[in-house]
Amino acid sequence: MSDSGSSETRNDGAGRTHGGGSDGTHNDGSSDERPAGPGDERPWNRPEEPLSIDGIGTYLRCPRQYEFARVHGLESADESDGSDRVDLLRRAICAALRTGKTTHGALLEAGLTRLAELWGDHDERFHSRTQRRHERTVLEATLRAYVEAVGTDHAAGLEQCVGADVTCADLVGPGLTLSRTVSPSKTAESAGSEPGDDPSPIEIEADVDYVFRDGSSLVAARFVPTLASLGLLRYRSRWKGDVAGHFVDHFDRESDVYDPEAVGALFETAVVLGGLRSLRDRLGLGGKTCRYVRVPLADRSRTSVNWVRGSVETSVKITDLTDVYVDQHAYAMTHEHRNETVDGRLAAIVGRIRAGKFDPTDRWEQVQRAACPDCGYAVCCQDRIASEVQFDG
Ligand code: SF4
Repeated sequence: MSDSGSSETRNDGAGRTHGGGSDGTHNDGSSDERPAGPGDERPWNRPEEPLSIDGIGTYLRCPRQYEFARVHGLESADESDGSDRVDLLRRAICAALRTGKTTHGALLEAGLTRLAELWGDHDERFHSRTQRRHERTVLEATLRAYVEAVGTDHAAGLEQCVGADVTCADLVGPGLTLSRTVSPSKTAESAGSEPGDDPSPIEIEADVDYVFRDGSSLVAARFVPTLASLGLLRYRSRWKGDVAGHFVDHFDRESDVYDPEAVGALFETAVVLGGLRSLRDRLGLGGKTCRYVRVPLADRSRTSVNWVRGSVETSVKITDLTDVYVDQHAYAMTHEHRNETVDGRLAAIVGRIRAGKFDPTDRWEQVQRAACPDCGYAVCCQDRIASEVQFDG
């Protein structure tokens, strides 16, 4: 396996050769590897500003995309306005959980009431009134399925966390942020710097939707559209074996494996569990193990429609990412749910972001194939334009 930060000469598959040397220069003399120095105030090197786990997911997909979005703040042509239907359900369910109600009927009524209010203000272009009515029916069916499958249990677990100093509002989002501090790994550029120049730790933030107790565990839950992006992780319940191999291969330049979504999900799990451990200690819930679950709210593969009766049936099945992340070897050593391989790679990625390394050509073939076609920055991206010119010429 070769390290993503190592130096070697390679062809990017578009006919361009990238020196990729420690000076970060390309063959045309330009440089987009920007070694950071102490006191450097450039946008990618502000340790006081937290990184978001969603941003790190973008970096995994394509470092240049990260630079456009997070360093220069450029809006992507395909950027969502955040008012999608999953977000409506997220807000309705969170509002229901914040009421503190735990019975099936009361929780469902609170959720449906809030959903009706949000739907009234929901501005989305539909083909017809029938389609609008249908989409609302799907949302209501999903809310019912959520309450039925896990909602009342989670609401009861939430109630168990509430005490004198802790209210439902402290534990329910949307946008409840958990954070973990990571010490970035040194990059090739900073490896020879003076002792004492160690990069400052950086806070990484991950949003979850609520936190609840489940037996001997404290659990963070996040609503997502579907679980499809998890790929292999959906079907495995442990780290050891093909999950570990898949993760390591993603960072191997010689490997065809390129799975930023699954790798990002493992990074997210690392951050959420770290943040949840801190929250557990603040809440005085020592001794509880921490877990992280994803709750899909737009999985149409679990939905069936009776067009004659105008009814919709669906179900909600959550996924627990804890066991697939936890390395039992690290757990045996530390008695903490951790994974040193994932944590080490996360530190390396944070180090690369901190050093301003946004050149996507390390894995150009994969980026070009998987990320470029749907990228909202394609029209202004020199990497993409250069590869297309090379292709046409
Ligand atoms: S067009 Fe391709 S290389 Fe350019 S930012 Fe988008 S994904 Fe990255």
